[in-house]
Amino acid sequence: MSVPAQPQSLLGTTLDELVSMFAEWEQTAYRAKQVVEWVFRRRVTSVEDMTNLSRELRAKLSERFTLRTMTIQSVTGSKDTTRKYLLRLHDGRFVETVLIPASPALYGDRADRRTLCVSSQVGCAYDCNFCASGLAGFTRNLSAGELVEQVVQVEAQSGERVDNIVFMGMGEPLANLTNLMKAIEILNAHWGVGIGARHMTVSTSGLAPQIRKLAEFPLQIRLAISLHGASDDVRNKIMPVNKKYPLAELFDALDVWTSNRKQRITLEYILIEGVNDGLDQAHLLADHARRLDALVNLIPYNTVEGLEWKRPSETRQDAFKEVLVRAGIMTTLRREKGHDISAACGQLRLKQETELGIIESPVARKRETIEA
Ligand code: SAH
Repeated sequence: MSVPAQPQSLLGTTLDELVSMFAEWEQTAYRAKQVVEWVFRRRVTSVEDMTNLSRELRAKLSERFTLRTMTIQSVTGSKDTTRKYLLRLHDGRFVETVLIPASPALYGDRADRRTLCVSSQVGCAYDCNFCASGLAGFTRNLSAGELVEQVVQVEAQSGERVDNIVFMGMGEPLANLTNLMKAIEILNAHWGVGIGARHMTVSTSGLAPQIRKLAEFPLQIRLAISLHGASDDVRNKIMPVNKKYPLAELFDALDVWTSNRKQRITLEYILIEGVNDGLDQAHLLADHARRLDALVNLIPYNTVEGLEWKRPSETRQDAFKEVLVRAGIMTTLRREKGHDISAACGQLRLKQETELGIIESPVARKRETIEA
């Protein structure tokens, strides 16, 4: 006997998919449109609430589909500040989603807008030496439905609309490319969540082949690169992925991306004391940014419990920025929001899963690796 399949989420199903499934069921495309109207406009949480569909059709739909797969475990922070949501998934794992009130000036948005930082995976396989997400290793990809549901859950809980999405939460979005592209399609669609493509940013640690693939994606989304080092020797110390895709290869892929796009890319650069905050790196970073016509976003390092690295003094941060500004590079220095609620990538989930005994405390092991 076969095991019944895990029900699909309607939040991860496109209108086209519904239309063709409805055709097989001898239902019209009009009915499929009614369904997405209930799902994304009215945000019903149960197929039973779709009262203009026949009882039989509702029964058939709920056999196949579910509408919510996660619950909100906790919300930290308050209105008008950064709020961090810890979400419990159907399999008992956790991801984080962060709602940021005024979005960064960098993205050209008005001050009254809200940005949601969405996770793309449970854990992460890339093991960046500054990041809490990689500490516990990689568990699994999030489905397209789980990507979209993060937005839907936060909008329902907060009663506020999300205007911008950044895929900068836990995980490497480009390692989950198929689900990511499907989720972006649903988030963007006029029948779906309806967020403009220019208001969605995908952030990557620099997976060159996947950047080339994403360059063919038709929607005009934005791309951010977690650079954090302006030369291979410095970047190798911070991000193991640089050994696989060194800067030259990454920049080749970015040339392909920019040749297809109107929007400028963003180079993100965490400032870590004594590791990558030398002014020689600032000059090199300015050269790369100029050649790529990129914006630069400087982020003072957020201390992660158990890791040794620290943020540089504000004087040093300003000096680094000054080099870029003098070189004519559009640069922002994000004095971060949310340090107090463990808002850096992956910190809250790490705490929760360690406390519940789902994962072993990985911090001590990591410290040894860095010192070695
Ligand atoms: N894997 C993707 C997306 C997740 S990281 C990527 O690498 O871009 C999203 C952003 O959070 C990245 O710029 C990352 O470098 C930053 N980040 C992670 N840990 C941080 C910390 N401790 N302090 C400051 N920024 C951090």
